Amino acid sequence: MSKIVAQAAIRGAKKVALEAEDFLNKAIKEKGKEQKIGFPETAFYLPMAYALLGAEVKTLGEAVPILEHVKSLLHEEPTDKLWLPYLGNTLDSGVATLLAEEIICVLRYLYEQEPQPDCNGFFSDTILRSLGIQLVDGRMAGFAAILGAAPTNKIAVDIVREFQKRNILTFVGSSTKGRSIIDQLKEEKVEMGWDTYIVPYGRDTITAIYPLHWAIRGALTFGGHKKGEALKCLNYCKERVFAFGLTLGEIDDVKYATGAGAINMGFPIIADTDIPEIRPTGICTYEHLVKEKDYKKIVPVCIEVRGVKVKLSKIPIPVAYSAAFEGERVRKEQMYMQFGGKYTAAFEYVHMKDASEVEDGKVQMSGPEIDDVKEGDALPLGILVEVAGRKMQKDFEPILERRIHSFLNEAMGVFHMGQRDMCWLRISKDAKNKGFKIKHFGVILHARLQDIFGAVVDKVQIKITTKKDEVEKLVVDAKKVYEERDERMAGMTDESEDSFYTCTLCQSFAPNHLCIIKPERLGLCGAYSFLDAKASYELNPTGPNQPVKKGECLDPVKGEWKGINDIIYQKSNKTLEKFHGYSIITSPETSCGCFECIIAILPEANGFMIVNREYAGETPCGMNFSTLAGSVGGGAQTPGFMGVGRLYIASKKFISADGGLKRVVWMTKELKEVLGDKLKKRCEEEGDPDLINKIADETVATTSDQLMAHLQKVNHPALQLEAVM
Ligand code: SF4
Ligand code: ZN
Repeated sequence: MSKIVAQAAIRGAKKVALEAEDFLNKAIKEKGKEQKIGFPETAFYLPMAYALLGAEVKTLGEAVPILEHVKSLLHEEPTDKLWLPYLGNTLDSGVATLLAEEIICVLRYLYEQEPQPDCNGFFSDTILRSLGIQLVDGRMAGFAAILGAAPTNKIAVDIVREFQKRNILTFVGSSTKGRSIIDQLKEEKVEMGWDTYIVPYGRDTITAIYPLHWAIRGALTFGGHKKGEALKCLNYCKERVFAFGLTLGEIDDVKYATGAGAINMGFPIIADTDIPEIRPTGICTYEHLVKEKDYKKIVPVCIEVRGVKVKLSKIPIPVAYSAAFEGERVRKEQMYMQFGGKYTAAFEYVHMKDASEVEDGKVQMSGPEIDDVKEGDALPLGILVEVAGRKMQKDFEPILERRIHSFLNEAMGVFHMGQRDMCWLRISKDAKNKGFKIKHFGVILHARLQDIFGAVVDKVQIKITTKKDEVEKLVVDAKKVYEERDERMAGMTDESEDSFYTCTLCQSFAPNHLCIIKPERLGLCGAYSFLDAKASYELNPTGPNQPVKKGECLDPVKGEWKGINDIIYQKSNKTLEKFHGYSIITSPETSCGCFECIIAILPEANGFMIVNREYAGETPCGMNFSTLAGSVGGGAQTPGFMGVGRLYIASKKFISADGGLKRVVWMTKELKEVLGDKLKKRCEEEGDPDLINKIADETVATTSDQLMAHLQKVNHPALQLEAVM
């Protein structure tokens, strides 16, 4: 351990602590100790203080003891005599720095100085969870936090593109000599945001607390660790959050101190300057502090040091290809041409064929190519994917087909929306200039289908047409199949199958959680239906989705089976004994943190409310989504509260043991709209076609009183049901 590093980190910690103290004193003087403080949309108060010290800081006054603790962690700078080659003091400085930075940032929020222009600022709990699921399903490989500025704009762009190509989410910010990488990327017109995996946090080192905050909340949300369990939370970050820091340019004391904080969380730091390296392994999985002055090598070095596993896709197309480009839009002014949407007819259709009829890798294109149309034009488009494989099943067609969306979107400069005969695609001018052709859609689909579904498909061929009459002719057959599929799926019930599927994918985050996926109840993240789980098992027989025989039915009303109970006990590491698949009151299924919606009990209304992740407003239970989510996740059974996938709400088995849809007294307007006809149909089946209007939404009630008044007025059926608890 280098003495220079220790000295710098201790100096930096003192500086940040002093700044926090001055700012806090000023705020208390101006606004009083009772003044409320907090970050937006989080249930974790000041997350570092909450996780590491167990403190729920809600007011300026409550921040004072945190600052006292910070001061107790500050040590004297080591002298030659007093020097021990040990990280202890440096690590204390790191923790002190993180706690002090958090105070500074929350005070900046109080004074409306955060988020900084073009920056994200604090990451909400909603973002935390949606990134969590991308990490578990492999769309994201890890996280980089860049601090400073590159020597040139070009190097800055090259570095973030290298991370993008590897599906690594990059947080950019801080500055070197008054210049920030954020502005370098802005000047080069790099699209930044969650969708493109490049997220600006703030232009100073203090704001580097945001990505670190976010990591520690992963331990609380997904790891199921409690507030104050400092070591467990830090260990969780080290074991499960694949993150690292990259400093560009000179490292000042505050950067050293913040870096020491990151090292505490198990995140190594890579620098492009001459720094004393700290290579012995101990806290980090690998080295702590490493230098690499060659910018061509710096990204691979980061990945190697942190041990991030990345898969680089090699697809023979002239543009970059990675999940990081999935969220990238092609705006009108960037667009060269488009297909579908409200402009032309377009469809995509995956169809299973006999092996003798499919030639692997063949891409057949008919009709005008991109070079035959002028800028701004639209063409009709038919994409017919024909697959063959000994293990391929008709049931898998829609699963393969649904992936066309992300497969095409992941090409830089290609935009895709929708599905089936309601798709919309764009190709950018940039992509065209690089030589991208319509035919390349087929090249991408062949490569990706083989890559992801290689276990079931042996051969893939693609027919693309941009001829109007051909599209119109082919879409008729496709439509017939879309309808057949919907009917087949609708005919499947929990009773008609003798096995369900487990999903343990989220155990990398929530070690005791599992989903039981049934025909009439999909996984709570909304991403795994029964057929998805079935396909996933066929593709990867030792993977996270396993079939389980239901066995003896112990309770048909509550949804309990002997075989399912056994697997729950086993897969939950013996922490859970049973699930009632159709109840939220007795032995409800657990929630990892990825749920699309939360159902919460409202005892006064004798019913439940449902809120979806996208809704940020108030709800009649007095908590918003984020606050509710904080008490539901982590793999615990919490009667009266449960995370679910949206589509479960429109299922006949929706909390049927507790009264079903008639128990729902409130749901957001967006949910009503998204579920649309499905929900209407369910209300009719329940014998109350007007139920959908009797269920309140935020336009009628956001408080319990307003809700009760509404329920009385419309005579909501929940009021007549037996007591909910
Ligand atoms: Fe996680 Fe459940 Fe979704 Fe599987 S189905 S990914 S366990 S939330
Ligand atoms: Zn999950």
